[in-house]
Amino acid sequence: MTSSKKTILCVDTGVDDALALCYALSHEDLNLIGICASYGMATVPQTFSNTKHIVASLGKGDQIPVYMGSEKPLERDREYSGTFHGMDGLGNQNLPDLSGDAKPEESVEFIIDSINKYGADLQIITTGPMTDMAKVIMRLPEGTEPQFTMVSMAGAAITPGNCNLYSEANVMVDPEAAKICFESDVEITMVGLDVTRKTLLTGKELKVWQGYDSPSAEILSKAVAFYLEAYRVHHPYLAGCALHDPLAVGVAMYPDLVKTIPMNITVVTSGEADGDTVENLDKIAEKPTTKVALSVDADRFMADFYSHLNAALQ
Ligand code: CA
Repeated sequence: MTSSKKTILCVDTGVDDALALCYALSHEDLNLIGICASYGMATVPQTFSNTKHIVASLGKGDQIPVYMGSEKPLERDREYSGTFHGMDGLGNQNLPDLSGDAKPEESVEFIIDSINKYGADLQIITTGPMTDMAKVIMRLPEGTEPQFTMVSMAGAAITPGNCNLYSEANVMVDPEAAKICFESDVEITMVGLDVTRKTLLTGKELKVWQGYDSPSAEILSKAVAFYLEAYRVHHPYLAGCALHDPLAVGVAMYPDLVKTIPMNITVVTSGEADGDTVENLDKIAEKPTTKVALSVDADRFMADFYSHLNAALQ
């Protein structure tokens, strides 16, 4: 089962976004029409520039447009620690700035234009904060049923969060935005920590990429080496680092990689469980809009992911 929909990838590059970008850009089964890079793992000029570097390193610089996204959460402040992704989002490589004259939120116009153009033939993958998509959803005409769908690396249904017991990082960065998205009528496949923690990258794969002599392999290897070391220190229970963002790309192409349950989801926006994705009890009797992924065929996904990454990075 493959999806042939036109696809927009919304990233916040980010080491695992960089992996997701390589996977998406090298895959014959993904019809990628554009990339949007918002703030998230680093500031928006930085994530935009990182995204341009990844696209260019794969020789796709003149094929896929990259749009700059939002520069901050809807209501909150964003501080950057650099713990997992480095202060530059790619393991402190400090590559030259490619942000040029791009302006924040150009992405929102691009996504709205694409929704109007493609309708049900459009899907949007998010692997960062859901701020851009909340802005898009707030601008949809009232009373019309959205036809496009989303696949979002977001949330934690049963498994503990990765910011605290409750919250997953993409949701925690902008819970108000995630709440707008999940409470909307847009069909969202929630690819959360419940499944992404089951898909891993280890030093073995890194070693293969370190042996390649290409611009993309050089950027990716340095970024992943930093990320793996951060995981070793902070999440020692995992035998590697999780392929959070790449799995969202995989599910967008092959929905049957995951088993989902239908549910209406909301997001807690205050208190101890701030950022938690939970069932929306106010809509318990209504038609569910979210498909919550709870199990994944990790072996099948990882085989496809590594075969495409190995080919793309050589
Ligand atoms: Ca990300």
